[in-house]
Amino acid sequence: MALRFYNTLTRQLDTFEPLEEGRVRLYTCGPTVYHYAHIGNFRSYMFEDLLRRYLRFKGFRVTQVMNLTDVDDKTIRGARERGVSLNEYTQQYKDTFFEDLKTLNIEPAEHYPAATDHVPEMIALIERLMEKGVAYRSDDGSVYFSIAKFPAYGRLAHLDLSGLRAGARVAQDEYEKDNVADFALWKAWDENDGEVAWDSPWGRGRPGWHIECSAMSMKYLGESFDIHTGGVDNMFPHHEDEIAQSEAATGKPFVKYWLHCAHLIVDGRKMSKSLGNFFTLRDVIGRGFSGREVRYVLMATHYRQWLNFTFDTLRAARAALDRLDEFRARLEKTSAGAAAGPAPAWADEALDRFAAAMDEDLNISGALGALFDMIHAGNKALDGGTVDAPTAGGALATLRALDRVLGLLQETGETADAAARELAALRLKAREAKNWPEADRLRKELLALGWLVKDTPQGPELKKA
Ligand code: AMP
Ligand code: ZN
Repeated sequence: MALRFYNTLTRQLDTFEPLEEGRVRLYTCGPTVYHYAHIGNFRSYMFEDLLRRYLRFKGFRVTQVMNLTDVDDKTIRGARERGVSLNEYTQQYKDTFFEDLKTLNIEPAEHYPAATDHVPEMIALIERLMEKGVAYRSDDGSVYFSIAKFPAYGRLAHLDLSGLRAGARVAQDEYEKDNVADFALWKAWDENDGEVAWDSPWGRGRPGWHIECSAMSMKYLGESFDIHTGGVDNMFPHHEDEIAQSEAATGKPFVKYWLHCAHLIVDGRKMSKSLGNFFTLRDVIGRGFSGREVRYVLMATHYRQWLNFTFDTLRAARAALDRLDEFRARLEKTSAGAAAGPAPAWADEALDRFAAAMDEDLNISGALGALFDMIHAGNKALDGGTVDAPTAGGALATLRALDRVLGLLQETGETADAAARELAALRLKAREAKNWPEADRLRKELLALGWLVKDTPQGPELKKA
């Protein structure tokens, strides 16, 4: 089956054919580290995780880049308000971002370049644009991209540029569609920037937001690459400007497939920091939900549909995950560590349906439907006593294959606290050294803490006693 994605550039489902066979180069716009990311942001990162995992499931080698925007209007403002350096200010949010990714079981990207580490690359790209005559320096020492010199401007966001006022400019990093104008590539220093400034051929200043993603994506992925993603709000101006900068500089097509994730909303409005209607991941965990439950909610609505966030949806996720856990536990018990045999028909069928759904623009509803139908059919077969140990092992292998995409199975017990995990690791070492009395002692110690250890072919698993 062919893999197809809805491509914002063509406004249709396009069959996915990477530029290089077997390999996918993927750029995913990352966080602006001026605050904790909220679960709306994580909806976009979750969609990208599903995309990445499914591409890998299909056998592609994926190189993913996610940038960290650690210099822009918002980070500079935040650092100044708190009276700390820009680095000190953004570092804490970078750190918590990576912790949150782990909590959500989001697979790490291959590269997380920070904007402040790539200013020379951005200056070089702006110089190329100056040489080509598509950028110009204004009186204050800022540099702007001249959209009149790039006829394809507006192609991604489908803008009507007939009423465009030539030479109008915007300096802010974010602006609306009715404010189409030349945008800043380089911003001359002003007092609001405080100590944040770099030397450039145009004087001291700092890069605009958009040039960051063009410079860093092309550095790590080449001048043309396969997929670029982000939330829909990134489509304009950010992605439109990226295309203009990159293609004007190289004369080559920048990106083949543009995928955009619809917003997570609360009470009918986009969850956003500026509206103040947001929950961070920490807020939600603090209310007693697990990263895995949040992961399920963020994933379970198709990425091009609005996701209406409520705590009831989280409770429903808990119930769905319980069913999944129970089913896995049943299969494990029945397989009893026997070598896996061929998977039963109900598992094979689920795998086929899962892949067929995901091939169709990551149709997650269809994919989860296949999973829960498998659980239903499997439970029935188990009730009927028709599943022998090797068959259960085969079904378990199918379940694990699906989970390489979904990332929902609690392999090592994500709620196990650090002390328990440490004891489990010590016990594993003891077992490897065939020190059975010590391994036994550690098992009892774990039990005293409320944890059962189960040894599986994948390693020990912790479960609440
Ligand atoms: P920012 O940190 O504002 O640059 O946003 C980081 C990413 O989160 C971008 O891809 C945004 O499009 C995305 N994003 C922001 N708010 C939401 C939301 N409510 N739902 C889904 N994605 C969002
Ligand atoms: Zn970006």
